[in-house]
Parts: sequence; structure tokens; C-alpha cells
Amino acid sequence: MTLHTTKRILITGGAGFLGSHLCDRLVAEGSEVLCLDNFFTGTRENISHLLGRSNFELIRHDLVEPILLEVDEIYNLACPASPVHYQFNPVKTVKTSVMGAIHMLGLAKRVNARILQASTSEVYGDPEIHPQKEAYWGNVNCIGLRSCYDEGKRCAETLFFDYHRQNGVNIRVARIFNTYGPRMHPNDGRVVSNFIVQALANRDITIYGDGTQTRSFCYVSDLVDGLTLLMNGSDDFIGPVNLGNPDEFTILELAGKVIDLIGSKSKILFKPLPADDPKQRQPAIDLAREKLDWQPVVHLGEGLKKTIDYFEQMMS
Ligand code: NAD
Ligand code: UDP
Repeated sequence: MTLHTTKRILITGGAGFLGSHLCDRLVAEGSEVLCLDNFFTGTRENISHLLGRSNFELIRHDLVEPILLEVDEIYNLACPASPVHYQFNPVKTVKTSVMGAIHMLGLAKRVNARILQASTSEVYGDPEIHPQKEAYWGNVNCIGLRSCYDEGKRCAETLFFDYHRQNGVNIRVARIFNTYGPRMHPNDGRVVSNFIVQALANRDITIYGDGTQTRSFCYVSDLVDGLTLLMNGSDDFIGPVNLGNPDEFTILELAGKVIDLIGSKSKILFKPLPADDPKQRQPAIDLAREKLDWQPVVHLGEGLKKTIDYFEQMMS
């Protein structure tokens, strides 16, 4: 063990979409950042600009296996997040969520680190209450195609609260709602990246179902603000807390916005709705407002423009 005065922060899934933006933020703030990833959905390109920095270190590791590190804080983000990716190897998705949480909580317990879990609005499943409040227990099909992700994340929350109650581990739990921005994987199948890539190429925009299902989209910089506020906030507030943008849109509305912003010639192509696809989703963020003094500031149009610029450069 070396003596250190700077905060040493581990970000699992640090080479992914959200993780890489969190790495950027924490490296810029001067913390020592350890980015851990197995590169299943994350890429070296996402963090290549940080590789020469003296306060940034990259560790290739699969979180299904334990690891011992000396750290002060852990952001546990490792887990594929898009339905296409988490359904690719569902058993592995459960292992990553559950074994990953056990390994990171064990580490936090051992080195007395504070640990934040990137949970998800999927813990509410196909919600019967609207908007979703943290007190809602959810409506999840435990044997469906999405359950490897939903139940894996629900079990991870259980583990976080049990390690907290049983071992006094200093936890934080954020329930993240649909977040978008630069560095989303172009083929990850999520709706914002799909629509932008399709519209830029003037290909058909694929709408699953009739497009009346809703989502509420949060720009990545707002989400990173929320995560860091939660991690650095009072020990009296551990969550779970919803982090997301409460502006709700139908998927058809989203398609229209993307087509307009790009000036695309794309047509809409309706495809079958995947099983268990939630019909509506909107975060109630009163708790985040009250306890973290946080709310999103980037409107959908503004965030979409930045994301479109990113994909335009990538595809040119
Ligand atoms: P992402 O797929 O871009 O990032 C996940 C990262 O975890 C990738 O870099 C991947 O390679 C890594 N990873 C996966 N399995 C691993 C393993 N076994 N060991 C080590 N690394 C592994 O997805 P994202 O959107 O950046 O999501 C990050 C986290 O936030 C996830 O835990 C996700 O569940 C959660 N989340 C994201 C959203 C969103 O809208 N982006 C919403 C809710 C929750
Ligand atoms: N969706 C769609 N076309 C696509 C990709 C997704 O209509 O090309 C729909 C999907 O069925 C869902 C919504 O958009 O209703 C959000 O999907 P995403 O995979 O981004 O996230 P999640 O369903 O996990 O919220």
C-alpha cells in the first residue's frame, strides 16, 4: 500500500458510455482514477484521451472475478445496459450484476471505501404507477427476456442494502433512467443511438410497436452531475434515488425530433414490439431535488444536437 492524499476512485465499467464521462469528470477534478473494464461493450477509444494522464489508470478485468485494490470510492457501473447487449449472454449479465456487486461490496468493506451502485429504472419493470417514485416496488417479470438485467440489478440493490445493514458499508444507490449522449455505442440498439445513426444514413427509422410507449431522456452531463453529488453528499442520504430527466416523450415524438434536427429523408418503419417492453417511463425526481439539489438542465433538443454531432463525426 502506498501513502496517498488524493482521493483514489475506482470506476467499474469505466470504458463504457457513462463510465467514460465519469472518468473525464473525476480526472479533471484531480482525483486518481482507476478505470476497470472487460471491454464487452466499452472501448479503449472512449478513454484513449485519458491514457497519458498521470492520474488515470486502466485495468482490464472481468468483474465476475474478485479483485483487490486500494481505493477510497467505488462507482459500480460495470454491466451491459442496452437490451441487445444484456440479452446477448443473459447468464453472464446476471453474473456481472450479482457477482460484481458482491466483489465490489466485499472490497468496499475490506478497504472501507464508499460505494455507489448504478441501478436502473428497470427495477420498476413495466410500471403500473406513473411517474415512478422510489417507494414503488415495481412490476417485473422474473422469467422474461429482460429479467437477466432487471432482476440482476434488483438483486444488486438488495446486496447493497444488506452489506450496509449487516456490515456498515457506506453505500449509495442511484436508479438511472434512460441516458444518452456522445460515446453511446453505434450498434448497441438503444433508441437514441439507433435513430440518429439511421437518420444520418437516411435509412428507415425502426419504431418498435406503435411508438406510443414513452421514455424520458437525460443528457449524460446532467447524469454525471447527479452521480457525483450523490457520492459526495451526506452519509444520511444513501438512496435509492431516481436520476433522470422528467421530460417525457413518445418514441414517435423522439423519431420526429431526430429526423427534423438532421433534416433526414428517413421514413418510419414499424417493427414488432419486444416482449415486456415498458409502456411508459418517467422519473419522479422530487427526492433528488430535495436531497441533492439536483435536476437536469439540458433539454432534449440541445442534447440531441450534441449527440448528432458526435455520430456525424464518427460516420464521416
Ligand atoms: P455501457 O454498456 O456503455 O457500459 C457498461 C460497461 O461495463 C462497458 O464498458 C462494459 O465493457 C463494462 N462491463 C460489462 N460487463 C463487465 C464485466 N463483467 N466486467 C467488467 N466490465 C464489464 O452502458 P452504460 O450506458 O454506460 O451503463 C453504465 C451503467 O449504468 C450500467 O450498470 C447500466 O446498467 C447503468 N444504467 C445506464 C442507463 C443508461 O441509460 N445509459 C440507464 C440505467 C442504468
Ligand atoms: N425502440 C424503438 N426502436 C429502436 C430501438 C428502441 O422503437 O430502434 C424502443 C424500444 O422498444 C423501447 C424504447 O425505444 O420502447 C427505448 O428502448 P431502449 O432500448 O433505448 O431502452 P429501454 O427499453 O431499456 O428503456
